[in-house]
Amino acid sequence: MFVERRKFIKISALGSGGIIAGKSLLAKLMTSEQIKKLASTFSGDEKMVRVGCPSHNCGGRCLLKVYVKEGVITRIETDDRPGDDISDPQLRACIRGRGYRPRQNHVDRLKYPMKRVGKRGEGKFERISWDEATNLMAENINRIKEKYGNEALYIPYGTGGYNQTCGKWPADRLLNMYGGALGYYNSYSWACINQATPTVYGTRVTGNQRQDWLNCKYILMWGWNPAELRDGTNTEYFLRKARENGAKLVCIDPRMTMSAVSLADEWIPIRPGTDMAMMSAMAYVMITEDLLDKHFISKYCIGFDENQMPEGFEKEENYKEYILGIRDHHPKTPEWAEEITGIPKETIARIAREYANTKPAMLYQGYGMQRRAYGEQVVRGGCVLAAITANVGISGGWASGIALQADDGGPFWNVFPTLKNPVKAKIPCFLWSEAVIRGKGMGAEDGVTGVDRLSTDIKMIWAVASNAIINQHGNINRSIEIIKDESKVEFFVVQDNFLTATAQFADLLLPACTQFETWGMEDGWKYGDELILQPQILETPWETKSDYAICAAIAEKLGNGEEYTQGRDEKQWIEHLIGVYKSSRFPDIPTLAEMEESNVGVYSLPVTEPKVAFIDFRNDPEKYPLQTESGKIEIFSKQLFEKNNPAEIPAVPKYIQEWESPFGAEAEKFPLQVIGPHYMPRVHSTHDNNNWLSEAFPQRIFINEIDAKTRKVKDGDLLKVYNDRGALVLPCRITRRIMPGVISIPQGAWWKPDKDGNDVGGSINTLTSERWTPMAFGNAQHTIMAEAVKFKA
Ligand code: SF4
Repeated sequence: MFVERRKFIKISALGSGGIIAGKSLLAKLMTSEQIKKLASTFSGDEKMVRVGCPSHNCGGRCLLKVYVKEGVITRIETDDRPGDDISDPQLRACIRGRGYRPRQNHVDRLKYPMKRVGKRGEGKFERISWDEATNLMAENINRIKEKYGNEALYIPYGTGGYNQTCGKWPADRLLNMYGGALGYYNSYSWACINQATPTVYGTRVTGNQRQDWLNCKYILMWGWNPAELRDGTNTEYFLRKARENGAKLVCIDPRMTMSAVSLADEWIPIRPGTDMAMMSAMAYVMITEDLLDKHFISKYCIGFDENQMPEGFEKEENYKEYILGIRDHHPKTPEWAEEITGIPKETIARIAREYANTKPAMLYQGYGMQRRAYGEQVVRGGCVLAAITANVGISGGWASGIALQADDGGPFWNVFPTLKNPVKAKIPCFLWSEAVIRGKGMGAEDGVTGVDRLSTDIKMIWAVASNAIINQHGNINRSIEIIKDESKVEFFVVQDNFLTATAQFADLLLPACTQFETWGMEDGWKYGDELILQPQILETPWETKSDYAICAAIAEKLGNGEEYTQGRDEKQWIEHLIGVYKSSRFPDIPTLAEMEESNVGVYSLPVTEPKVAFIDFRNDPEKYPLQTESGKIEIFSKQLFEKNNPAEIPAVPKYIQEWESPFGAEAEKFPLQVIGPHYMPRVHSTHDNNNWLSEAFPQRIFINEIDAKTRKVKDGDLLKVYNDRGALVLPCRITRRIMPGVISIPQGAWWKPDKDGNDVGGSINTLTSERWTPMAFGNAQHTIMAEAVKFKA
């Protein structure tokens, strides 16, 4: 057992009778009797608490039933609330939530504050007290602020802890209270889709509520794999319901994913990075076969053809002329796209006809294809197909793009007050390494916003719940060289549960407790209207502290402890935040005491009349114009035209050959495309050390049998994959479920170099590049070429 046995944390009145019954308090579909039953938590000396699954960046927010005996979690089950209904379904956990125990009970948890004693990255640390650790933090924050200014302080992107009060938010609050820190925008998940969607629609709120999917007749799952990972809890359930209701589902993906197998009627393998060629050819078929909705285009769009160009722009810049190849003499025919995508021209034409003729239809864009060299194009391309087929603003349709939920983009709220950052400067999060090596002077050409130029390089990094600095950033070997140089980042702090690949390079390690060991709260992920409670169910072990308590202790040393805490501990903050929700999103939400007593774990609002994005615009575009400059759907974007980089940022969506491509000279040396999809057992790099999950889903190189044969490897052989940036070695899995010429190495495995520098942990970022996309300044980590050979140890 990893901790001495402890008494179960007393949660007031938990399961002790005295039920507060009443439908309005809790889920609306339950009776008082059912609620009473849910509160019965005792069975002998084992107790059960309904608690939100620890928040990582998993794409879901689910409810767990956690059984605790003598201070240790003994079992985890999932949501069992009665009244399960499509309007308010149970928040059913995936294997990562149900298989959480090995992570929680792991022998390698960080237990005490430690400081580095060897060279940076050597992995040598000695235990220190919290007093010394918080003194070091205060001294270094003060020193760096004094010497370089607050812009030199940086809390990077990190989502290992991600509820209202855990993860980086408490650290943001602290530094914002102390003069601020260099900010960032974008994420590693959504950079291109986040930036490109508003160039078409003027908003990111482009998604109907999922209950509306039942009204859809045709669903293109484009690079989208919700059966394996998650994009909103229960997404696969809604898709099944849509299918039961008669929708056809087609999966377009280089891999025959679990979604292709279990949800779709058809799998269409596509060469990575060529989705925009397929979309263009679909538009070609629709234009030449007259399958478009001309009325919709003329009423709601600009830039489709020469009659729709904004004043002052060359008429030939329009979308239709690009598709027909009038200016570049390359009509984007299915034959043209077949060469690029690897998809037979007949299939491309058939899918175009099916999508255009089956109304209403949905083209749902996954996020992998926008984490590529020109990821902005494919986002805009999908939105344009939705527009020209008039699938925008109708029930059963789907506008594509990032698709935050109508009508307000929620849930996904941050209600913990991180306060306003007095530092105005922001960088795209993927350019942190640039801001370390050449930050001073960086400006708009590097995506800097808020100031003309940065005044300093980054000098202190405080990575909270973040493995993004080493493991998850492009080009690990480059990141390591940057971080190892102590003249650049002068103080590097990592606050986490484990000694991750990033944490190995820290000057100071601050041990955070897990989310079961403190109080938290989370709202739904992208879709659904719910609030899930995360009561503390275990004692905080060893000398770990919650992220909030760590920050409060540092605030004390900086002299603003009271201002920071406002006299609240973690639980009191949750109580306060429920009040914030009550006065904003959920006026009928129960109090914290009522929620604890009921042990339901979640407050949710059923969706009986699903909202449809852009419905007002569709009904009356004059009265409800879009927030674009034209007030219409911008197939041609003046804003992008004015960036004056038509080769990389065209004003209409175009296929652009990637900077590493099977069609480029680089393919001579590195002929394989490598993709790094999300993997079922991990949430990015979280859970890589969970032995239950890694036993069920070991890290592998997935390779087609044709490519395996060329390389004379058998299933299970060690394969070395390499390019000019690095090499990794892993066993291979030979499969027909990936297209030839492409290998898959699931992202998130922890970097672990052997004596020759080969990564035997299998982190895809040993191979990826730090190069960013032209418009969004986003990560293009899926654009990789490499070679693979049989490895002899
Ligand atoms: S989807 Fe996320 S929140 Fe839900 S069980 Fe899985 S890991 Fe937990």
